[in-house]
Amino acid sequence: PSKYVVELQKHWAQDSGNASYALLTKAFVLVNATTKRIKIVDTLVNLLRILIEGAPDSLLPAVWLATNSFAPPYEPAELGLGGSAISKAFKNIYGLNSQGLKALYNKHGDAGDVAFEAKKRQSFTLKKPKPLTIKGVYESLVKIARSKGTGSQEAKQRIVERLLQDTRGAEESRYIVRTLVQHLRIGAVKTTMLIALARAFLFSKPPGAEFTVEGMSSLASLKKEELTELYTKAEELVKASYARHPNYDDLVPCMLEIGVTKELLIHCGLALHIPLRPMLGSITRDLSDMLTKLQGKDFACEYKYDGQRAQVHCDANGKVSIFSRHLELMTDKYPDLVSLVPQIRGESVSSFILEGEVVAVDRETGELQAFQILTNRAKKNVDVESIKVNVCLFAFDLMYLNGEPLLDRSFRERRDMLRSLFTEIPNRFTWVKNLDATSTDSEAVLEFFKNATEVKCEGIMVKVLDNEARGTIIEATTNDDNEANMNMDQYEQDEQVPAQSKKTKSTRRKALLSTYEPDKRLDSWLKVKKDYSASSDTLDLVPIGAWHGNGRKAKWWSPILLAVRNSETGILEVVTKCMSGFTDKFYQANKEKYAQDSENVISRPSYIDYRGEPDVWFAPQEVWEMAFADITLSPTYTAAIGLVSEDRGLSLRFPRFLRVREDKSIDEASTSDFLAGLWRKQVERATEEGIHDEKD
Ligand code: ATP
Repeated sequence: PSKYVVELQKHWAQDSGNASYALLTKAFVLVNATTKRIKIVDTLVNLLRILIEGAPDSLLPAVWLATNSFAPPYEPAELGLGGSAISKAFKNIYGLNSQGLKALYNKHGDAGDVAFEAKKRQSFTLKKPKPLTIKGVYESLVKIARSKGTGSQEAKQRIVERLLQDTRGAEESRYIVRTLVQHLRIGAVKTTMLIALARAFLFSKPPGAEFTVEGMSSLASLKKEELTELYTKAEELVKASYARHPNYDDLVPCMLEIGVTKELLIHCGLALHIPLRPMLGSITRDLSDMLTKLQGKDFACEYKYDGQRAQVHCDANGKVSIFSRHLELMTDKYPDLVSLVPQIRGESVSSFILEGEVVAVDRETGELQAFQILTNRAKKNVDVESIKVNVCLFAFDLMYLNGEPLLDRSFRERRDMLRSLFTEIPNRFTWVKNLDATSTDSEAVLEFFKNATEVKCEGIMVKVLDNEARGTIIEATTNDDNEANMNMDQYEQDEQVPAQSKKTKSTRRKALLSTYEPDKRLDSWLKVKKDYSASSDTLDLVPIGAWHGNGRKAKWWSPILLAVRNSETGILEVVTKCMSGFTDKFYQANKEKYAQDSENVISRPSYIDYRGEPDVWFAPQEVWEMAFADITLSPTYTAAIGLVSEDRGLSLRFPRFLRVREDKSIDEASTSDFLAGLWRKQVERATEEGIHDEKD
């Protein structure tokens, strides 16, 4: 409990068991006013506690609204509101004319900020506002999304206008509009919400609930470390449940019933036709970096095919669902794969979830084709008869079989089951090409890597085959390149053991597991790509502003300002200016895209942290992959500030544009944590090499 609960409670009101939208708005305002993670979590925890205890029916709608969504990614649902619907509502409800509206947009850029100003200036109301409730707002969104067919635009417009009409204050208006345009701009990001839910249920129960929470009765008497341990356990549990079953519609009611207990993973765990969040690969610099990381272990090298990741679910009745890497349902895109299922599953297989990469191939020869060919396939309602782009599914994992989750089995076991129980169909369904090896097989691994890159693969994925015994102790000396280079952050809950001598550092860590870990990027799955140059990592950055170019570049934007994402607060932290790697054609297209009079150019946004002022600010919407020489501490740039230095951020030297990451949304841009991790690695490398950066 903290002072924030008092602040929030002032806004607590309820209408027949429904919490007021004013309460949620107050929480948004408090979250928006800080970049400190502890305050954000604190505010959310207290908001959730008030709801759990006082209005449990409003909890689920509040979680949806705070996470800026209203349905899970695999249930196609869109509000389908154009900017014109919002503008029309501004005119009808707040009495603005076109000119006034344009002026407000020019000044503020963000539709929510325009709503804030317009509401403040509103001089009359057509009807007496009826106080909004959290549940009511959420239900309005669902109604908008469900409104289809003739007359739906008018119906949607009426709902939007009613919402604006009923706001009781400028802040409510701001957040209602930001919700309607699906851009909340606050740091109540998914991971924070899961942490907040876990903690809130450690402190609170809905009235009449029967569950008990481990440690709840003695919370007040716990020492700080004990409390932290309790938090960590609860958070891991909630995150694990969400990674296996990413739907608040199931998670929140389940928590209201059983609290945060291990049962969550049973009642709200892996399930057929609900996609789990995929396991991800960690980047390595090159093959030798990979071999160092996996020293002493048996691993499988696999071709890293350049296609689309697919999670295939099939139940005992033969119903098939296929999901993308981002959990969207894409069964309609691949009817040819759906029709293969009866042939690939062996007799002993009734239900399964397997994973693989769909790649465009030549039907006759099986030759792999470029990713661009695959993008030519329509996304929806593909008719089997008219398919021109043939595909093959290269299967690499099996996560569920005959009613049983396999996530805790070793990769070797899962792969053996996949390959023995399913049947290959040449050029349509087969296994990823693999080579099992250990770190002493460097020549064979190099050969395999070369072969992969020669057949249009992006490189290789390398996966630990067996689970190491738990509690393995790694002895590492600072002179030993191999162990000292290990990225210990990637292991779960590492524990540093005091150094025994100046030159020796011992580290005890949890065993490196080969289990399937949904939504985690661990060292048990490594990727080695052909385009990583020997020493350079790359960053995926968001272009957020620019200056007018000089000389030859006078017609274009140059340099361009780029940012990393703070995953806790949602703030974009500026990291560098770039004027290298762009072609003239790219500059031209960029200038057209971010034309000064377009909606892609906005006024200074509040969610960007930068001490300078570019000539224009871009509406953040894309991700660029960037190379750079090294990372430096900077008084101007704010990226990762507080993570490596209290008053200085991190910046890049010699940044160079590589390509637009069309497959990534800005939520997937590199984070400040990741950048700080790269900086630490760079410092470690420099220390090992005896280089001391005088600038530091
Ligand atoms: P990238 O920047 O490499 O595209 P990403 O963030 O999209 O990365 P990662 O998990 O980092 O995804 O890289 C693994 C991706 O490679 C998978 O999502 C999958 O689509 C693809 N892939 C191709 N072949 C394999 C394979 N054999 N095993 C696992 N993933 C594979």
